[in-house]
Amino acid sequence: MTSIDRTDLRARYQEERDKRLRPEGNAQYLEPTGKFAHFLDDPYTEVVPREPLEDEVTVAVIGAGFAGLVTGARLKEAGVEDVRLIDGGGDVGGTWYWNRYPGAMCDTAAMIYLPLLEETGHMPSQKYTMAPEIFGHAQRIATTFDLYDNALFSAQVTALDWDETTHRWIISTNRGDKIRAQFVTMGTGPLHRPKLPGVPGIDSFEGHCFHTSRWDYEYTGGDPSGMPLTKLADKRVGIIGTGATSVQCIPHLARDAQELFVFQRTPSSIDVRNNLAIDPVEFAALGEGWQQEWAINFATLQTGGFTDVDLVKDGWTDIAQRIRDRVVAEMSVPGVEFGPETVQRAFDESDDEKMDEIRARVDALVNDPATAEHLKPWYRQLCKRPCFHDEYLQAYNEPGAHLIDTAGLGVERIDATGVWVAGEHYELDCLIFASGFEVGTEHARRAGFETTGRNGEALSEHWAEGMTTLHGINVHGFPNLFIVGPNQGANLISNITHNLVEAGTTVAATIAHAAACGAETVEVTEQAEQAWIDLLDGTGTSIFGNLDCTPGYYNNEGKPMGRRERLGASGYPAGPVAYFAYIDNWRSNGEFAGLEFLGPAQDHADPPNETTN
Ligand code: NDP
Repeated sequence: MTSIDRTDLRARYQEERDKRLRPEGNAQYLEPTGKFAHFLDDPYTEVVPREPLEDEVTVAVIGAGFAGLVTGARLKEAGVEDVRLIDGGGDVGGTWYWNRYPGAMCDTAAMIYLPLLEETGHMPSQKYTMAPEIFGHAQRIATTFDLYDNALFSAQVTALDWDETTHRWIISTNRGDKIRAQFVTMGTGPLHRPKLPGVPGIDSFEGHCFHTSRWDYEYTGGDPSGMPLTKLADKRVGIIGTGATSVQCIPHLARDAQELFVFQRTPSSIDVRNNLAIDPVEFAALGEGWQQEWAINFATLQTGGFTDVDLVKDGWTDIAQRIRDRVVAEMSVPGVEFGPETVQRAFDESDDEKMDEIRARVDALVNDPATAEHLKPWYRQLCKRPCFHDEYLQAYNEPGAHLIDTAGLGVERIDATGVWVAGEHYELDCLIFASGFEVGTEHARRAGFETTGRNGEALSEHWAEGMTTLHGINVHGFPNLFIVGPNQGANLISNITHNLVEAGTTVAATIAHAAACGAETVEVTEQAEQAWIDLLDGTGTSIFGNLDCTPGYYNNEGKPMGRRERLGASGYPAGPVAYFAYIDNWRSNGEFAGLEFLGPAQDHADPPNETTN
């Protein structure tokens, strides 16, 4: 590609981005309330009436997705037996409990995405496993570590309050439960609460509708394993959104619906998937500690580092390999020195090449040239979550499948019988919202409950100017509370479970240490929290968060980030791999620097600031 081409390309990227910028940013989306409140109901498990529960546990784990499961597993390994998982869903699994849409599968290789494979002895069936297998693995973790024994499902936490008199958390649920816990861990997920497009008239649609995270198989027929959606054979179906979820379910809808109308605002980039079966012989030959080695290898490559070998070999590491090859090639030119400019140039050239291939793939797979043109992404690959699929683009060759491109503007209007785009009406029996999940909104709103710590301070007040923690885990003023997530820790975006395993391991080590030294409470000091925030402040704008990207949740919908948003999106400045090494040392050296462990007789109301062990 010549430099003139690149200038044109940049101009095209800018033009496409500008079309999509909306002054409302995140405020364009609606919460599922009112007519849509039932979108949050559980369609999979019947809620059986029972008496409210009032008892006490040592550790309550709020959220039984992978965050809660790995934390629970590590707690059990560390000898903490009295652990209770609490979840609004009817089983463990979190994201993989709720998301059962046809075609759902992991986008990151299962060998690293599925946590605790060595501990559970499970071999993934394929490089990218389907959702039922992932849900099954979540259940396997719960069974292996006896986490079902004391679990509480179909119980949505409504409030979490610190009782300063007894030094216990009180967890209230929508079932009337009042559970006391010495320690609470929270793994409520960054993308958890469904959001809806703020389209005028959305309330007026009288056909059937649902959000992809609560797929209505009663209406569509079929099942999560991909059986035909037989009840759609005589239906005109619309779907709003073309993100990672939509890319996976559209091939099924295109195959089975009488007619499918896909309302697109921004096309996703669709790279090759190349799924394949895992070879049992190769799997059996992997030595002890292989999963950690693979995870670090992947994280290193995916975040721009260098390794001798690419163990995972997927679309995420492919781009990294290309950059490395280019840097090496440039370095062989006399006079060229290694430095940020060489790396940036290599990154730009590799990305342009990759996106050219992705656009050429659209032409190769989509029969109708006009449709193909609309399916081409005009932005850098990591501006939006890259997708990998080998049937999505071909779905538009189905006779009943129609791509309705909205020229970056989104759906114009919804009425009782269908959807309007550019003055044209599309009559529908069913409208599916593949419009994603809240990102970056207030913590209490996304978690679904408020957390009130010492002195009656609410976590949302405490974080009004932005999230503040030590390691993304401990919060000053909120003793014995532990957050399990990626933010303000490694913040590794692609392989989310790697963050969770590390955070869960750290939390378990801390709670086990508190038990061993007879501490009743553990809390981060104000100074230690501030020092961590000082270290992180200024990060939170990665290649993902670039403002010249087309808008989306990776870059705060294209709006400049304030300090609040930056803090929420920040991670360890030296990157995820350095963080993983740092946190491993922090939790293993026995010091737990920055935390204060206090026994029952000590003054908890106004703890001294120095760290004790
Ligand atoms: P996304 O937020 O990625 O996609 C939402 C879609 O809705 C976008 O295409 C968006 O367009 C579109 N949209 C929003 N408002 C309108 C409107 N008014 N008119 C038309 N279109 C509109 O949600 P997903 O559920 O697809 O994915 C969320 C995340 O979940 C992923 O990024 C990924 O992290 C995770 N995921 C992971 C999977 C995996 O690992 N296998 C599978 C599925 C999801 P626009 O792009 O223009 O904003």
